[in-house]
Amino acid sequence: MRIDIATLFPDMCEAVLSASIIGRARKAGYLDIQCWQIRDYTIDKHRNVDDTPYGPGKGMLIQADPMYRTWEAVCAARGSRPHVIYLSPQGRVLTQKKALELSQKDHLYLMCGHYEGVDQRVLDEIVDEEISIGDYVLTGGELGAMVLTDAIARLCPGVLADESCFMEESHFNGLLEYPQYTKPAVWHGRTVPEIIQNGNHAAIARWRREMSLKATYEKRPDLLEKADLNEKDKWYLRTLGWEE
Ligand code: SAM
Repeated sequence: MRIDIATLFPDMCEAVLSASIIGRARKAGYLDIQCWQIRDYTIDKHRNVDDTPYGPGKGMLIQADPMYRTWEAVCAARGSRPHVIYLSPQGRVLTQKKALELSQKDHLYLMCGHYEGVDQRVLDEIVDEEISIGDYVLTGGELGAMVLTDAIARLCPGVLADESCFMEESHFNGLLEYPQYTKPAVWHGRTVPEIIQNGNHAAIARWRREMSLKATYEKRPDLLEKADLNEKDKWYLRTLGWEE
């Protein structure tokens, strides 16, 4: 997976992307992620990238041209046209399903806005889709790009130890994950459930499914409307008070 990120703050992105699992996966060659400084692609002698918007109102906008030139430079350097995503509070809100869909693409280009945003004309010219990380407004697209990159990258082959690492996690199958425990078996008088301390895999699998249903019912009952539930699941949920 190749991800190019157009930003005014590449150092901020690099700090995040060099750490932990993503940093290791980059070093090992599973992820090819590069940050591009939009300012390097302005033809303004002061390297300005922003200007005042037309019409009344305060603030500054990133101009179309440096954004466009950055994208052109990436296409030329990579020798292909990436799928272009503009991080924006106006986009569709990111979900696990969307992250999985994007993890199957070969090459993504993430555009980070700043100030009041970006001149609409360059968005109309090169953007394939807009993605938001939530219904609130950030000062820039960098945090959104980091969230999106992290969510996608961990689904790419080689980044996590194996696919079951994410297939059993919250949201992958439409439910929240079951509770997890590590050693010691007793902590502050709280004991790890007996059933997962023994080696009966079938019993553990059923317990996990029920705990996953319970967590979803208690924390995010809205998810149950779209979840793939069998008759046994529905019976268990009814014992908790769920009404279909
Ligand atoms: N004026 C814009 C509007 O009202 O739609 C908001 C601009 S915001 C202050 C500056 C930049 O932050 C945006 O260009 C976008 O790249 C990024 N941004 C802000 N909120 C975001 C969100 N919820 N998700 C992703 N990116 C966001």
